[in-house]
Amino acid sequence: MNSYDFNPGDFVQITTTDKVFEGHLMPEYELESREFLFVKLKSGYNVGIRKVQILNIELIKRNVKKEIAGSEEECDFEDADGKILILATGGTIASKIDYITGGVKPAFSANDLLSTVPEISETGVEILGKQILNKFSENLTPDDWIKIAGEVYKCVEKGAKGIVIPHGTDTLHYSSAMLSFMLKNLNVPVVFTGAQRSSDRGSSDATLNLINSIYFASLDPEKFHNKGVFVLMHEGIDDKFCAVFRGTKVRKMHTSMRDAFKGDKFARLNFFEKKFERYENGKILEKDEKNETLLDTKIEKNVMLLKYFPTLTPEIFEILCEKYKGIVIEGTGLGHVHDSLIEPIKKAIDKGTFIAMTSQTIFGRTNLNVYATGRKLLKAGVVPCEDMLPEAAYIKLMFALGHHNKHTDIKNFMLTNIAYEINERSEI
Ligand code: GLU
Repeated sequence: MNSYDFNPGDFVQITTTDKVFEGHLMPEYELESREFLFVKLKSGYNVGIRKVQILNIELIKRNVKKEIAGSEEECDFEDADGKILILATGGTIASKIDYITGGVKPAFSANDLLSTVPEISETGVEILGKQILNKFSENLTPDDWIKIAGEVYKCVEKGAKGIVIPHGTDTLHYSSAMLSFMLKNLNVPVVFTGAQRSSDRGSSDATLNLINSIYFASLDPEKFHNKGVFVLMHEGIDDKFCAVFRGTKVRKMHTSMRDAFKGDKFARLNFFEKKFERYENGKILEKDEKNETLLDTKIEKNVMLLKYFPTLTPEIFEILCEKYKGIVIEGTGLGHVHDSLIEPIKKAIDKGTFIAMTSQTIFGRTNLNVYATGRKLLKAGVVPCEDMLPEAAYIKLMFALGHHNKHTDIKNFMLTNIAYEINERSEI
């Protein structure tokens, strides 16, 4: 069958009994079915070709294996200067199908991940990889956010050009929001990315997301204003563009679609066509001068994000207020809850619990001045969070309570735009 000694990443033409395919050979993993050869097509899709049907394999371009230093072993980033760092944390992007159980399991290290993307050599950037965690993102805790932020900071200190963080998609937007607050004055791009489908599946979004993240992380902040924390994921249903969002202005909005992440778009881009279209105009918070990047991981973990539901009783609410130092409510519409909760809310605020209001409509602004319910909530001391996403407000309140005790200071912090979490005006 094989007409030459092939290696993963080689660009080949495969002639089968009924079709001709061109693409990069994918690596074989232990548990994989030996019946198939996996090839990543130019479109980014993977196909499994039954080996018995292959008539010939012709080498078109040998993969020049780019050595990727570091790995799950300790990597002290001494050589990070001018490079792109991949800090892998787990999730579907680093998973593959277990052909025995049919489930998806975390299996790829940072280096494995990069070996599935031979196109990386085309970016011309030097890459270092490190596995800093290997978890599905639903299992992440605040200590993991602190760890990720600390590792990013180390890379920044060593002069990294940009940082890419492959991450599980379920809670990716919580992590990106937290890092947006923990890392101040970032002078380089820090890009969270993930995949909705594992990289050994035909319709995987892992490659496109990863390669575009590396591309985005390699763009010059002076020209592209891409300093800060971002999320980059598939855009639309084809394999053309990826969308980039600020780390505080994005949310997973679909369980399985590859373009699940929605929010205020910062840009869209396509590495293969070298296209970069910026959306966010006139909203640059950072000055052009470079300030020293600061890492600040002080947070209060005792914060709750509570979605209002019609049968939420004052009794349950009172119990929650005793347990948490801060509560972000996802209220209805402009930011409302049942009248019967207003009294316990007031009592809790008077006793020192900080209560903030967001909306479960997700998009749009809170406004507690329109209806009587809202005005009563304002009078009780509830702080409406402008157009912050509920998750971003929840993360921000952890950060706020980690730094301030007085109600007015917490309120000022919550209502100051720190990391693009607030738009002054709501645009269509
Ligand atoms: N639930 C897993 C996670 O968030 C897999 C989902 C994914 O990565 O897309 O890590």
